[in-house]
Amino acid sequence: MKYVEGAANRDANVNLENIFKSYEGVHAVQDVSLEIEAGSFFSLLGPSGCGKSTTLRIVAGLEMPDSGTVRIGGHDVTNTPPQKRPTAMVFQNYALFPHMSVSENVGYGLAARKVKATQRRERVISALKRVGLAGLLDKSVTELSGGQQQRVALARAMATEPDVLLFDEPLSNLDVELREQTRFELKRMQTDSGVTSIYVTHDQEEALSLSDKMAIMKDGRIVQVGRPRDMYAHPETAFVARFLGGSNIIEHSHAELITEEKARSGEVLAIRPEDIVLRHDGPFEATLLDQQFLGRTSELWLKWKGVSLRVFGNSARITQSEVRFEVVASLWVRDDR
Ligand code: ADP
Ligand code: MG
Repeated sequence: MKYVEGAANRDANVNLENIFKSYEGVHAVQDVSLEIEAGSFFSLLGPSGCGKSTTLRIVAGLEMPDSGTVRIGGHDVTNTPPQKRPTAMVFQNYALFPHMSVSENVGYGLAARKVKATQRRERVISALKRVGLAGLLDKSVTELSGGQQQRVALARAMATEPDVLLFDEPLSNLDVELREQTRFELKRMQTDSGVTSIYVTHDQEEALSLSDKMAIMKDGRIVQVGRPRDMYAHPETAFVARFLGGSNIIEHSHAELITEEKARSGEVLAIRPEDIVLRHDGPFEATLLDQQFLGRTSELWLKWKGVSLRVFGNSARITQSEVRFEVVASLWVRDDR
């Protein structure tokens, strides 16, 4: 089955089983197992160096795992070379050929796959239509803006009609406005086409807004997998709470901030910045260390009993140095710092 007008391969799930990969003593990927549903948008989220790109490149066949199995649509492709896999990759730096036109770039993978010229032309036009660039067929890619170049890279990947699209931080080189706009378009195209997509990013907003499901990685391992809303609402560890929600992590000894629950062993309190509310009659008093105006909100730094707390406030400037606050929600999470 091929990727044409709403006819994505409905069987193209991706399954990773116990994947390991090291580079001269660096454990880039450690025991990663994932089940990615056919037709879904799945993100790998984590800080720089946590093993996201290596995992993605292993799915593409650009890296061989030291051990473990990669399956696409139920077929074991662990030893299949990249050009024989039903995958296509979109890179952060676009990786376009500067001496070629838009249509030559988009058609490149098809020529390499020996698709006939007439059919090639059709597929190139169809892919460019999808990304809204059909009018720029014969332009040189060097004449295009960064955003347009990224769309050409996406069209090139889609033109090969892959069962699985792989994205490695594809929006990182775009400026903020274009990045947000392209993010929505990318999501719409994925929803329309239904092609299984794996998306690597270090940007929590991108992962939260785009994904059906996401995995958070740390030091080569998957630490939690789930739907964005569930992950945000129920982080299991201090790392996830901090990485996804920017939560304050508070030791047992300061559990008096919350009322009912007893401290649990091996766990710490995670309190999201938006769950600390400034109130003139609040139960706790803190010193205001710093405040930063962000437009819609402001970010405040409080010091309470030696603990620094990050808080979102309304954007009004606070003039007093002592403020009172309450904690409206908190979670116990595993301490994996
Ligand atoms: P991420 O994409 O999450 O930033 P990577 O998968 O690129 O992380 O890298 C994971 C770890 O593996 C890092 O420590 C990185 O330096 C190392 N690494 C990745 N590729 C290579 C390579 N080709 N040679 C040596 N070390 C590598
Ligand atoms: Mg990377």
